[in-house]
Amino acid sequence: MKPLRHALFGCLALVAVASAHADHPEWTRPRKPFRIYGNTYYVGTEGLSAILLKSADGLVLIDGTLPENAAQVEANIRTLGFQLKDVKLILNTHAHADHGGAIAAIARDSGARVVASAVGARELMLGGHYPDDPQFGEAPEYPPVPHVDVVADNGVVRLGDVVVTAHYTPGHTPGSTSWTWESCENDRCLHMVYADSLGAFTADGSGYRYSDPAHPERVADYRRSIAMVAALPCDILMSPHPGQSDFLERVARRDAGEKPNPLIDTGACRAYAAEGSRMLDAKLAKEQAGQGAAP
Ligand SMILES: [Zn+2]
Repeated sequence: MKPLRHALFGCLALVAVASAHADHPEWTRPRKPFRIYGNTYYVGTEGLSAILLKSADGLVLIDGTLPENAAQVEANIRTLGFQLKDVKLILNTHAHADHGGAIAAIARDSGARVVASAVGARELMLGGHYPDDPQFGEAPEYPPVPHVDVVADNGVVRLGDVVVTAHYTPGHTPGSTSWTWESCENDRCLHMVYADSLGAFTADGSGYRYSDPAHPERVADYRRSIAMVAALPCDILMSPHPGQSDFLERVARRDAGEKPNPLIDTGACRAYAAEGSRMLDAKLAKEQAGQGAAP
């Protein structure tokens, strides 16, 4: 299981533009939508998360997955009994094609407002063509989102009775954002965390180095993001690639009747952050080694 999880952490790092689907057929493989907990639903594919929150005043969608999955995500929303026009807000973890690629289409089809972090908004409006992205030149571009509103770090986005907090978690991309909210079933309310990818990957030949001495903020920000995720109140963890957090495996165990509910794990964010930290350390060690070998 470990190698798979590491590969999934890479997001687009391990794939050339044209081979994304060949390497990751699960990214487009349909998945029946389902309720995660309370007002929170899964409307993504087998390999890419899209999270839907139901409020009294409409729906909030977080991530759209790949551009070619737009119709699938929209169909999943309808399958749950909702109407697409009730999607009022679309948020994004990070503006790579496998998470932000379908947002332009779903926003157009639903009329929803798109909201992201300050840098994330710029990235989405550029369709992923963002030179400060560690994977610039390798991460595929996608239809730009015409207009994206900005939410501040630790700022909240509200729709009806749903309040979603934005936590800037730069590292995997400069605009990376994790989102938290509360979901209740009967009288039990849980801390829901949709934590962004924490994997450190750079495009081959891009020259981007996390350890670039001219950019000390890259590692400092990254470590702060990891520490922030580790410290979040965390009952149910979701991640943009569900394999990163064993999310769908936990769902399967829950649906098989396992008690206590394996989706609820207050240590999940700490474990996810520890894995991100390990990956960043490995990347920095590799950069050091590469530097030593350079002429
Ligand atoms: Zn990514």
